[in-house]
Amino acid sequence: APAWAGLYSREDPLVVLDSDSAPTFLLNSSSAWFAEFYASWCGHCQNFAPTWKQLALDVQDWRPAIYLAVLDCAMYSRGCTNFDVTAYPTLKFFKAFSADVSSGKRVKGLGTATQLRRKIIDNLEEHKESWPPACPPLEPASVTEIQGFFNSNNVEYLALIFEDERSYVGREVTLDMLQFDNLAVRRVLPGEALQLPHFGVKSFPSAYLIQKTGTFSRIRVRKEDRLSYRNFLRSLRGVRRGTFQLLGQKQTSDEKETIVWRQADSSKVYMADLESALHYTLRVEVAKFPVLDGDKLTALKKYVHVLAKFFPARPFVKNLLLAMDSWLQNVTENQISYSDFENVLNNRGSGLEAVLMANTTWVWCQGSEPQFRGFPCSLWTLFHVLTAQSVRSDGRPVQDEDAVDILGAMRSYVKNFFGCEECAKHFEGMASKSMGNVSTQDEAIEWLWDRHNKVNARLAGEKSEDPRFPKLQWPTPDLCPLCQREKDGELYWDVSEVRHYLKAHYGKENIVNDYLE
Ligand code: FAD
Repeated sequence: APAWAGLYSREDPLVVLDSDSAPTFLLNSSSAWFAEFYASWCGHCQNFAPTWKQLALDVQDWRPAIYLAVLDCAMYSRGCTNFDVTAYPTLKFFKAFSADVSSGKRVKGLGTATQLRRKIIDNLEEHKESWPPACPPLEPASVTEIQGFFNSNNVEYLALIFEDERSYVGREVTLDMLQFDNLAVRRVLPGEALQLPHFGVKSFPSAYLIQKTGTFSRIRVRKEDRLSYRNFLRSLRGVRRGTFQLLGQKQTSDEKETIVWRQADSSKVYMADLESALHYTLRVEVAKFPVLDGDKLTALKKYVHVLAKFFPARPFVKNLLLAMDSWLQNVTENQISYSDFENVLNNRGSGLEAVLMANTTWVWCQGSEPQFRGFPCSLWTLFHVLTAQSVRSDGRPVQDEDAVDILGAMRSYVKNFFGCEECAKHFEGMASKSMGNVSTQDEAIEWLWDRHNKVNARLAGEKSEDPRFPKLQWPTPDLCPLCQREKDGELYWDVSEVRHYLKAHYGKENIVNDYLE
């Protein structure tokens, strides 16, 4: 699998999954697993990736009690659908010996690497019967256990970390030392410490080392924290890292796939991008839901309806869109299965080949790296195109009400299907504030242009920005010299020029068919 194309690489101490390997690794494993399901095109996933990598580095020595894994849903959508993942990024914790996909527990809130590390511990502690064999005990030690420790454990040292109930240091150090032989670590709570007066524990956290011979001493460190304890314990004579066969280090190919760079002209709109958006929305995003009902079914109907009515499609694609639309409009049940819809989408039973492209081919939307641009770029482009048409696909002129329908379809599509959950929330925030005021086609074109520019302004300089395609206020002066004007040293938009430009740029005549099969 070309794992390099996602946000993670073979250098990261985590397991890069694909659709087939995901259940093999995550289920029925003697280890616990913490998996991130992401989409490489999703800006929030890109922003989150450094945190997940930092976490993977931080807990790499906790393997094989717990592994971190990633699955790129943009590349392996089936894998994500199987695990019931519909938004990115989604974090799921799988206890050891999880039997089926539904046993993955969704971990809410992304947080910092430290917060996530603590969540790993909280989740490990939830194991009841099926404790991962490689995971040392994490519960506080009792006086009896400490007193008889060397009778039942064949190690040279026992490190005791005295700490408050809420502190994670003891459990973190316990896990940090799991790959090391000859030493065990236990946490001890203040109540127990009182019953061990010979230690003379006065502050929490503090740590003591007991040797098999019975001698004990305070562990003297500059700072009473995880790192200092860990470094001290790892430097003890006779404490060595054991040999572990860890998973996931050899599965990824480190060879970069050659990227075919497609020349594109910024003043044109490419049908390949638009049809790729159709493919991705209908075959990947909608396909995340095996059953479509309620708002999702309504959203799909609206989306396909505006496509059939306004998408300036090539003849075959136009027939397909009309067929899908009439099929959906005739649905009287209050739910459909995706596979029934897929049969229509793929022309099954009609004797014709599927006419929708089977993959994505990004042209203007191609990013300089695989994680940039692509699908979200094509989705914006598609809706700009839909709002800007002057004639419908039945040849009649577009009416003002049509434009309102198009924005409504975009709103419900984004809310119900767009995998970038944070993007969808932001967009819904803007839509609920002002989309209702739009009543003409000109207003619809302008609304979408203006909101898209607001998103561009917010995202400029973010990690998700493709350095080769910086987020600028659009249209730039090279594309439309008259769109921005200057008055008293201030730049302002000439909105009627902008509308005029949008209609021309996103109009049918400006769409080119290069790179279509
Ligand atoms: P895009 O912004 O995707 O634009 C595509 C093309 O449209 C540009 O190359 C340009 O030719 C043209 N264009 C640019 N601006 C305008 C305009 N104002 N009017 C008309 N045409 C224009 N990412 C996040 O990280 N956070 C978010 O909250 C977020 N929200 C999103 C909401 C929606 C509804 C969508 C569709 C995407 C969202 N994204 C978000 C993704 C982000 O907006 C970009 O789509 C993505 O980063 C790819 O950027 P891009 O450089 O290809 O240009």
